[in-house]
Amino acid sequence: MSVFISGATGYIARHTVGQLLDQNYKVIGTCRSQTKCDQLQQRFGNNPNLTMEIVEDISKLDAFDGAIQKHAHEIKHVLHMASPVFFTSDDFAKDILVPAVNGTEGILTSIKKYAAESVESVVVTFSYAALTSPENEKGVVLNEDSWNPDSWEHCQRNGMAAYCGSKKFAEEAAWKFLAENKDVVKFKLATVNPVYVFGPQKFDADVSQKLNSSCEIVNQIIHSTPNTDLTPLTLSGYCVDVRDVAKTHVLAIQNEELLGHRLIMSEGRFDTQAIMDILNESFPVLKGKIAVGNPGTSSTKNHPGTKLDDSRSRKLLKFKYHSFEETMVDMASQILKHDELI
Ligand code: NDP
Repeated sequence: MSVFISGATGYIARHTVGQLLDQNYKVIGTCRSQTKCDQLQQRFGNNPNLTMEIVEDISKLDAFDGAIQKHAHEIKHVLHMASPVFFTSDDFAKDILVPAVNGTEGILTSIKKYAAESVESVVVTFSYAALTSPENEKGVVLNEDSWNPDSWEHCQRNGMAAYCGSKKFAEEAAWKFLAENKDVVKFKLATVNPVYVFGPQKFDADVSQKLNSSCEIVNQIIHSTPNTDLTPLTLSGYCVDVRDVAKTHVLAIQNEELLGHRLIMSEGRFDTQAIMDILNESFPVLKGKIAVGNPGTSSTKNHPGTKLDDSRSRKLLKFKYHSFEETMVDMASQILKHDELI
């Protein structure tokens, strides 16, 4: 029996595919072009347990029909990870909101049409962004019951708000689909709702000048100079390691106890200063070469903004996450090796 994973070329998905293959699962991945499919298979050493299918554009509601129908009887678990992760566009609805929502509705509908009897669990990668709009609100505590309050129209005020809206509306669509089809489909649903995901790329060869949206924040700090104005990158939020996020997807298909839940994942608070501090302290080769900000002034310990209570999810997941420092050091080491600096 196989695990079907959409958006297999993605940053988090590559780690997830790797963990599944390491545990001897058969994996059917989707990606947008033959070149990308071939490249991913090569990265995994042409492992015979990895099959790739092309799904070009998840905005089309029937995008997954062909791939799901072809493998209908083999698929036991579905991990839906494909979704736009970018924040600039002239048309937030068309480029960000619609692919996220239609991708989710579409894959669930394809399962209903062709694999209602064989698929037992569906795990969808949503986000902390489904819990809240991007503004950090003083005193607000978010947990597994929280929902981003933005409307479809209001979330289109800027790119980050549109991305957050895309995760909210897609997640709402998933739970609604299940409620309306629970007598027709066999599967149970879990969602993984991580905060900012950082950590190394799955393969050293995946490191390039520009990385995926979340890792690019750290990449730009590593490639800053003491005079770089990091104001546009100034950020404070929560983060978690990519290897732990991948692990949660795998655990969710293995452990019935996790199904039916929104699994929020956060290691803890970070900010741009905390990233600069770790990079400057851990890598002598960067001393004097990158931005330092105001060392020791990170506000992670006493930030007044939104608080996250992920205790219910942690109790269910029962494993220890990589620390922020481990995540940053592993990620930066990989980038610096690519740059031939260490
Ligand atoms: P990536 O950008 O690396 O991966 C996104 C994947 O989705 C890629 O495979 C991409 O294909 C595919 N995709 C995007 N748009 C479309 C489309 N219109 N049609 C078909 N495929 C599409 O992002 P991440 O790995 O970081 O994100 C994976 C999931 O995790 C997303 O759902 C994201 O919202 C969620 N997430 C990510 C966080 C983070 O900090 N990184 C935090 C919380 C949640 P291609 O490779 O061809 O572009």
